[in-house]
Amino acid sequence: MKPGEFTFAMVKPTAVKLGRLVPILNEIDLAGFRVIAMKMTRLSKSQAERFYAVHKDRPFYQGLVEFMSSGPVVAMVLQKENAVQDFRKLIGNTNPELAEEGTIRKKFALSVQENAIHGSDSDDNACIEANFFFSQFEIFPINEQY
Ligand code: UDP
Ligand code: MG
Repeated sequence: MKPGEFTFAMVKPTAVKLGRLVPILNEIDLAGFRVIAMKMTRLSKSQAERFYAVHKDRPFYQGLVEFMSSGPVVAMVLQKENAVQDFRKLIGNTNPELAEEGTIRKKFALSVQENAIHGSDSDDNACIEANFFFSQFEIFPINEQY
């Protein structure tokens, strides 16, 4: 897959627990993204630590790791032109109080920590994060051979 054509997303534990998975998937679909890989899984503490390692010196890191390993998440790879930027726009600000009207976080987040969904912030991170959860045999890009 070419950088720029996909992003990585993860529905966070409280959103899954509260039954928001399907409504969130609907928003993602309406915004023109195609799901090309998906799994429900539960992160161990050490997996959550690795996934969020860039934040390890931030005050919220421990709480974030506890939260992200507290229950099942749904990880996915999404295909669309300009996927990373468009998806960040669709999910909105990290803090739901600052998130724009109509965004997924505005609609579904409970707090800055429990903000419903993760989205990659760059093409490089989309690749790293997709590879964290999926093997090459678990991602099904939509192309001429599909
Ligand atoms: N987070 C938090 N407190 C903060 C900032 C972030 O608990 O003050 C959590 C929140 O769940 C966020 C995640 O850490 O989604 C990663 O933070 P980042 O700044 O990368 O935000 P994002 O890229 O998810 O918008
Ligand atoms: Mg981030």
